[in-house]
Amino acid sequence: MALIPKSHPRVKSLLIREKLVSGFDNGLVAKEGLLAQGRGEAFDYLLGERTGKSAKSAIKAAAAQILLAKLSVISVNGNVAALCPKEIVKLAKQTASKIEVNLFYSNEKRKDNIVKTLKKNGAKEILGTNPATKATLSGIDSARRIVDKNGIYAADVVIVPLEDGDRTLALRKSGKTVITFDLNPLSRTSQTANITIVDNVTRSMDLLIENCKNLSKKNNKTLEGILKKFDNKKNLSNSIKDIKNNLTKRSRFA
Ligand code: ATP
Ligand code: MG
Repeated sequence: MALIPKSHPRVKSLLIREKLVSGFDNGLVAKEGLLAQGRGEAFDYLLGERTGKSAKSAIKAAAAQILLAKLSVISVNGNVAALCPKEIVKLAKQTASKIEVNLFYSNEKRKDNIVKTLKKNGAKEILGTNPATKATLSGIDSARRIVDKNGIYAADVVIVPLEDGDRTLALRKSGKTVITFDLNPLSRTSQTANITIVDNVTRSMDLLIENCKNLSKKNNKTLEGILKKFDNKKNLSNSIKDIKNNLTKRSRFA
């Protein structure tokens, strides 16, 4: 790992980048995943690299939605496995969600590496690896439509951090409630999902786990109330305003 001095103003961002680079070196992350990270970094910069109010309210709504689900599934790709494998396993345990490995750029070797990483971090069951339980989502072409019959296919709620717009749309078309983490509030994924957490997944995954833990003591009526109050379009528009306000602040030099 490159030596990054603690005093460096961009130390956090650089350490996250290092995770992706070692994920790439260890066969977890696709080349395209590095580019996706770069796009995310740019938006994170514009957001001021902090978890804003709108992200916090999306996290709360996401927690309520996961707790209300009949079957929630967390879809894991290479970037997520490189960035927060421990947190994924923790979220799955906390909420009785299933974990499915689902790659945009399908590759068996990479899939194996992701499974190994998740297992090393405590995952027991990982779906998406058994050819006998393959199922296909309609409304999408290519390998991306292949999901697990016992996982995403059967789920009512799917958590897809750092997902592509086409797949998000396919999941919505097949009737799933979609929760995503995406630093770009303008992406198709952000605009298509039911609940969009506009934040760095490395900052907000722990917050989601914490919210799930706290809200698990509440009854369904309270959880439904939280969801009813949440408006994703309005919340996305607040995230865009957060960027605008941050830029206005940063543009005052004199
Ligand atoms: P879409 O297909 O949804 O229109 P896109 O083609 O612009 O999006 P993709 O590469 O398909 O982008 O998806 C990756 C998304 O993940 C990007 O929007 C990027 O901002 C976001 N992203 C990358 N790294 C992170 C991260 N660490 N936390 C949260 N989001 C991230
Ligand atoms: Mg895309």
